[in-house]
Parts: sequence; C-alpha cells; structure tokens
Amino acid sequence: MKQRNDAARDLWAQIFERAVADPNAALHEPDDESEAAQRDLTARALKEAGWSEAQIAWHLEMGSLHAHLEDVNSPGVGPGLEFRLKFLSDRVRKAISETGVTSHEKVEIAIDPKAGVSASLTNVIMTDQGILSVSSFLFRWCGLVARAYTRTLYTDITHWTSRESDQASDLEFLLKRPVLVLYWFRIFVSFSGTGTHTLVPFRPSSPIEFHLFEQVAWAMEYFTIAHEFGHHVLYHRGVDDDPKAQEFQADMFAAKVCERLEFEPFERLPNPYTRTGAGGSLMFLALEILRSFECNEWGTSDPSETHPPAHERVEKLSTRNLLRPSQLAMDLEFNRTVSRMMQAVSAVMHEFYVLGGKKLVSETQKRLREGQPDRTD
Ligand SMILES: [Zn+2]
Repeated sequence: MKQRNDAARDLWAQIFERAVADPNAALHEPDDESEAAQRDLTARALKEAGWSEAQIAWHLEMGSLHAHLEDVNSPGVGPGLEFRLKFLSDRVRKAISETGVTSHEKVEIAIDPKAGVSASLTNVIMTDQGILSVSSFLFRWCGLVARAYTRTLYTDITHWTSRESDQASDLEFLLKRPVLVLYWFRIFVSFSGTGTHTLVPFRPSSPIEFHLFEQVAWAMEYFTIAHEFGHHVLYHRGVDDDPKAQEFQADMFAAKVCERLEFEPFERLPNPYTRTGAGGSLMFLALEILRSFECNEWGTSDPSETHPPAHERVEKLSTRNLLRPSQLAMDLEFNRTVSRMMQAVSAVMHEFYVLGGKKLVSETQKRLREGQPDRTD
C-alpha cells in the first residue's frame, strides 16, 4: 500500500524534529558491541527458559530481521520499531478495507521518540489526513504485560478460569507466589519510574508459554492501533463532541477490526484475545494500574475528562455481541478472566505501592531527572 499524505508527513517531520531535540528523547544509538552483548544475553536467557539451540538460533534471526522500509517517518528511533508498527498497521488497514472503508489510507504512522506508554491520533487541520503515533516503548510494555499475564495464567489455568473462585482466593493465589508478584511490581515500577522496561529482568517466554504470550501481546497491540485508526475513520474531529462517547466508539470499532484478526499472529491458531477484545481489556486495566503508580496518590490519576474508567470500557467490550449468544459467551469468558486477574494484581500492587513502591518510584524519577541535563526550552 502506497500512501502519499504529504501534509501529514510534513506535520510529523516538524513534530519529530522538536521531539528529538528533547534531552529525554528515546533514540537508539547503534553500537555493535552492545548489540553483540545483547544477543549473548538473549541467547542465555532463552536457554534458561528451556529453548533448544536450534530454536534459539531461529529466535535471534527473527529478532534481527527488519526489512528495509521506504519513506521512514521516524528515523533513529530504534531498530524495527517503525517496521513493527507498519506491519501491524497494514494488517489493521486490511481488516478495515474488508468492510469497505478506505479513509484509513489518509493516516500516516510514526514512532514518537519518547518514554512511557502512549498512542495517539493527530489530525492535520484543513485536510482529511492524520498521524497515528505510538511511543517508543509501547511494544515493550505490551510484551511485558503479556508475559506477566501468560505466566500468571499458566501457573494455574483452572484457578483463573473457574467460576468457583472469588476475589479473596485470587488475592491469596497471588500472595502465595512472590516471584510472580515481583515480576508485575517491577513492570509497574520500571515504567512509572523511567518510562521504559529498564528495571525489569529479561525473562523470555518458555516454549510452553510462547504461543499464548505472542497471541496476548499482539492482541494488545492490534487493539491499540485499531482504536486510533477508529478515531480517524469515525471522523472524531468536532470540538463539541463528547470525548468519552468517542472513546467507546473507537473501542467498538477496534473490537470489530480485531474480530477479523482472529488468526493472528499464527495462521492456524485462533487467537481468542483478538477475537473477544480481551487484548484491549488487558491493555486498559494494566494501564490503569500504571497511571496509579505514576501519580502521587494511588487512584487519584483520574483518567481525565476524556477517557472513561477501564472497567466501563471492559464492560462495554465484553457485552457488545448481545445478539450473538455464542460469541457473547466467549467474550464474557475471556474478558472475565482478564478482569479478575487484573483486579487481583491491582489490589496487590496497591499494597506494595503503600509499603514502599511509591517511594521507590519517586526516588527513581528524581534520580533520572538529576542525571539529565537541564531543559533549555
Ligand atoms: Zn482514544
């Protein structure tokens, strides 16, 4: 697909130029030595996770494949980031086109060279063009949350999918497993303290976790990207529009698109997390915990005037197929598992936050600030 959205590309070039001038810009400096060290580290971690030599070699090769991209919008943001965004966006575009809608062709994609987890759609005024951008660390975030989710689920699938379990037993389940809890904790501390994954130990998925982990991570990414395309396709531009209603509409749009991406990323393995929208739910619920870590008082981040609370979005997502009973049952089942687990994770994270997590995050933020040169603008 070849688009020529010159106005969007020009506007992005200006935004990008400003963004890379920021001392905190998340740019990648190629360095052969550190890349070799990284490969070694990856190989060792994969070995510890139970992968065979042949599988490790395949993994490393896949990781270093970034096909050549023409017309890059965000040069220097890191190997493969824009390539990955383009790959995912092209699948989403294809699914949108199947419904007869072509306005997505007016959207350019770009990587915002900054830390943190964000995705947004910028409209280019006086045109019908838009820019869909995601932060440099969005994919890392999805990968870590998907891994923690997969690991927690696989520790005892019966527990998380049984209707007998209740909130108290979910909490007890987590508190008995400090390794899992610490993994979650480090993800939230790292992203709220530094905006990156840097404080999370590298623990790749095991061969057993691999397929589910990939499905969950891709489902989160697809949903996020489809949601932003939704804002453009649904023409959310009016100043008087109700932003919360628009968020719900974009969620519904993303859920429909994701239903069409059921056989992603594995051609023969249906992905319930794209099909039911549960990937989107996991994204909302994990982000809500992250926002609580990011603000000074847990739960006061007030998702703002523009975004509805996560549980309302999950509720709407899980009950969207009221007229298709078997799909509805599946949607409810998967979204329920995600909600239950994240509710328990949230409760435990809150405790950790009170017991010292809050201090840890603010210390980390302070140290990072002190280590940075002063901003001049
Ligand atoms: Zn939105």
